[in-house]
Amino acid sequence: MRCLVTGCAGFIGSHLSEKLIESGFEVIGIDSFTDYYDRRIKEANVQGLRQSTNFTLVREDVLGVEWDKLLEGVDYVFHHAAQPGVLASWGTRFEAYINNNILATQRLLEATKKLPLKSLIFASSSSVYGDCKLPMREDRPLCPVSPYGVSKLACESLCYSYWKNFGIPVVSLRYFTVYGPRQRPDMAFHKFIRAILQGEEITIYGDGNQTRDFTYIEDVVKANFLIMDKDCSGEVINIGGGIHTKINEITALLQKLMGKKARIRHINPQKGDMRDTLADIGKAKKLLNYNPRFDLTEGLKREIEWLKEIAKL
Ligand code: NAD
Repeated sequence: MRCLVTGCAGFIGSHLSEKLIESGFEVIGIDSFTDYYDRRIKEANVQGLRQSTNFTLVREDVLGVEWDKLLEGVDYVFHHAAQPGVLASWGTRFEAYINNNILATQRLLEATKKLPLKSLIFASSSSVYGDCKLPMREDRPLCPVSPYGVSKLACESLCYSYWKNFGIPVVSLRYFTVYGPRQRPDMAFHKFIRAILQGEEITIYGDGNQTRDFTYIEDVVKANFLIMDKDCSGEVINIGGGIHTKINEITALLQKLMGKKARIRHINPQKGDMRDTLADIGKAKKLLNYNPRFDLTEGLKREIEWLKEIAKL
């Protein structure tokens, strides 16, 4: 079986590609190594993968690639290439979100509409919800509060349109703040742990009482695998941890786990951030038999260990 993973050098895409290879799949990974964060991190993410003869790395932009050739014989597509990040999505930088999210997704869908794919999984986000009633359920009205969220919602809508009109077996998974080894450097846990390791100040946007539903990377990878055995075409499914935690509780837990005191400074809330997120994972449980396995303590310990390693890079 052959899989195509877009964004294979990123945080989630690299873990997923590794698991696919481990499970005996052939993987074609495409990534343009955008400069949103240090490319050396992305190079390190694919280092192990490149040792496998079942892995092919295509260093190209999803927007410029020759799709027909790339998709030949592909059974599953995991679309994880994107311009992530809420803060960076304001102002002129929105162009990157139009190109790498909306346009890239449309090009991929166009290219796959005549193919006998088993499934196409689109990596969506809890950001499509905005400040809606908790827990966030798939049938709630969607009011994203950031241009990033708007771009992911546009992608989801494109996926739905292509499923409805062309029968592409596409499923959108709404990930809730993913964490663990290789987490992006612009994400909170990564920044907090790095700051504590280096004795630097932690900056928290707002009072720290905002909450997030955090999902450990292995649970996200598992959810992608569960889709492969089911027909969930046209569906949108939350993938979260199913509980939410205050940012202040996270910093307290990190200090305990790392045995170090943090210096914390609170600044104004970040424009585009949702106040709280909490996934209703009832649909994922019902359709996929999805059950998140990792708790924060275990997941954070693993992210801390990884960051200690890459601090040496
Ligand atoms: P990431 O930035 O680490 O990975 C994305 C990868 O896509 C990068 O390596 C980048 O170089 C590549 N890329 C971007 N535009 C490209 C293009 N036009 N052509 C080829 N490659 C391109 O991000 P991540 O955290 O791994 O996120 C993966 C996906 O999951 C994204 O779609 C993101 O929106 C979604 N998501 C992530 C989270 C999270 O908490 N990390 C939460 C919700 C949704």
